[in-house]
Amino acid sequence: MSLFLQQKFGLAGKVALVTGSSQGLGKAMAIALARAGADVIINGRDDAKLAPVVAEITALNLGVRAHAIAADLGDRAAVQRLIEQAIAWQGHLDILVNNAGIIKRTPAADHSDADWDAVIDVNLNGVFTACRAAGKHMLARGSGKIINIASLLTFFGGITVPGYAASKGAVGQLTKALSNEWASKGVNVNAIAPGYMRTDNTVALQADAVRSKEILSRIPAGRWGEPSDMEGAIIFLASAASDYLSGHVMTVDGGWCGR
Ligand code: NAP
Repeated sequence: MSLFLQQKFGLAGKVALVTGSSQGLGKAMAIALARAGADVIINGRDDAKLAPVVAEITALNLGVRAHAIAADLGDRAAVQRLIEQAIAWQGHLDILVNNAGIIKRTPAADHSDADWDAVIDVNLNGVFTACRAAGKHMLARGSGKIINIASLLTFFGGITVPGYAASKGAVGQLTKALSNEWASKGVNVNAIAPGYMRTDNTVALQADAVRSKEILSRIPAGRWGEPSDMEGAIIFLASAASDYLSGHVMTVDGGWCGR
């Protein structure tokens, strides 16, 4: 890689935490950040699912370190501890990717309080708690990159996922609110809104032949997204290449929003 590209996109010496990185989009983004030179912290609720991801990154021999910290993003105190432990690992945290997210599919009229609360707790309250704790640390250092994982339902209402749509709409607004306060202080806050990606999160849609066909027919790229489609966007938003980008919700959706 040329020196120019290394300076713009390289992440050597940076520490990144990706929440919900035991699988799916989070795992792909954590590996991409490691490939760009960052030391990475893998997170999820289950230690047994984290160890293989750490081993996979270590086996790539990238000259970076990988570390697992289990924590439930639906528990504010646990999120606070996660950020404190992430900072303590190497004394600094440079990149926070708020990726952990859940979805509950039930028609709005029957959507239970339990489903609503579970989604809002992880997708919104956990994200704000993590942003606040990591943001304080980054502001004190005068630098940092926060990337929140939004959704097409940051812009659209979706069908039978009212809590998810509400939480992801809020993630877009939170991204802008934090950017307004922190952009002048060296901390970039942006979001990625993935389109329809093949992960466990969308298994129900993939299995529904009618919905799956409808979705595919509306994607200009002509295919569902894969976790690897997140790699370029996350490296860009985590690196110096995006230093003048702030408060932006970037779609990685095969062109869906342009249609
Ligand atoms: P996924 O395959 O279901 O993975 C979700 C990840 O989050 C897992 O690592 C899971 O680990 C972790 N997680 C779930 N609840 C957690 C909690 N309470 N605390 C800590 N970690 C938790 O989903 P994905 O498709 O990769 O989705 C990742 C993000 O992208 C989510 O925010 C999702 O809303 C968003 N997104 C996805 C799509 C898509 O099409 N797939 C589209 C738009 C946005 P454990 O279960 O082991 O804890």
